[in-house]
Amino acid sequence: MSSEFHPPARILMGPGPCNVDPRVMLALAKPLLGHLDPDFIRIMHQVQDLLRSVFVTRNPLTIPISGTGTAGMEAAFVNVVEPGDRVLICVNGFFGERMVEIAGRCGAEVKRLEGVWGKSFEPAEVEKELKAFRPRVLALVHAETSTGVLQPLEDFPSILKKFPETLLLVDTVTSLGGHPVKVDEWGIDVCYSGTQKCLSCPPGLAPITFSPRAVEKIKNRSRKVQSFYLDMDTLGRYWGSEITYHHTAPVSMNYALLEALRIIQEEGLDRRFERHRRNHLALAAGIEAMGLKMFVEPQSRLWSLNTIAIPEGIDDAKLRKSLLEEYNLEIGGGLGPLKGKIWRVGLMGYNSNERNVLFFLTVLEQALLAQGYEVPRGVGASAARNFYSKNKPG
Ligand SMILES: *Cc1c(COP(=O)(O)O)cnc(C)c1O
Repeated sequence: MSSEFHPPARILMGPGPCNVDPRVMLALAKPLLGHLDPDFIRIMHQVQDLLRSVFVTRNPLTIPISGTGTAGMEAAFVNVVEPGDRVLICVNGFFGERMVEIAGRCGAEVKRLEGVWGKSFEPAEVEKELKAFRPRVLALVHAETSTGVLQPLEDFPSILKKFPETLLLVDTVTSLGGHPVKVDEWGIDVCYSGTQKCLSCPPGLAPITFSPRAVEKIKNRSRKVQSFYLDMDTLGRYWGSEITYHHTAPVSMNYALLEALRIIQEEGLDRRFERHRRNHLALAAGIEAMGLKMFVEPQSRLWSLNTIAIPEGIDDAKLRKSLLEEYNLEIGGGLGPLKGKIWRVGLMGYNSNERNVLFFLTVLEQALLAQGYEVPRGVGASAARNFYSKNKPG
């Protein structure tokens, strides 16, 4: 007999997955239904309605893809990109790179707009490239989890008005549920996310929404989508009025997502965003009080994913190992060129709270002291507490 697995109860403050509300875990234990059962179909429609409210969209074609965030990215590209289509991709981190890889596999003529890892794009430089390249699709990452940078999107509707042939495709995996995302107002045509980040659900589903313009592009394809599994035409029919079998929906994951979305609705989007903002600011205040540096300029920082420059002389792997083994705390390291240079600390959804901020600052101090980094005892947590007492939630 193999022994039962008892995972340690970690505090997951990396780039996701993060801890989830116990209500969401309980939802996973509810009795299974068939994926064509009328009771399950009712739940599917509730999930779609609630997804529309977090995406702030009226798009009928709004569903959770069965798969993680990357499946959402893949579904976005394979449906709206046909071989030979021009696709402009803004690359300032690991997930922009992944978009290039996926668009290339769709046979697109890809042009990269090269950015700096750690900085957002200026709308004017994107507009210049749009003029020169005239792409069918412009792709951007709203929240670049590899660097902690937020890409503002408010200016894009007025720019894209001048390029009516261009669809706007946006990755909101680390922003949806943590930062404002306004699909209709910002003129986003294809927008996807993942469940294990700010939506606070286990990994396994990728919410996605397509504007009527994107649906039109899919309808007018000259050839079928090369992926059967992610083909929105047939998938949309299963989630739409026809309810015909396409693949077996991950039933329990949809229960979990429904509960996670109900929790978001109870809190209210604005209060939720404000909570993320406040906890991020407290963490940054603590980090700076300890003499450490945030990796990103204040105006471009994500609230959901905080990146901290690793000070000279600190052993990254050893420090993260000690947090995990001594304190049961997971944080993320850097990806690609930022490996060994930054830590990535998630404050996502359920995990964005005062207790986690104070705990992280306290144990980080211990781990830094153990490596000989000099920091006055308690300054980080004190600065965060001070921030909280001066900035009460509204
Ligand atoms: C996590 C993430 C993804 C990929 O999601 P997976 O669930 O790991 O497949 C894509 N884009 C961004 C910005 C992410 O943070």
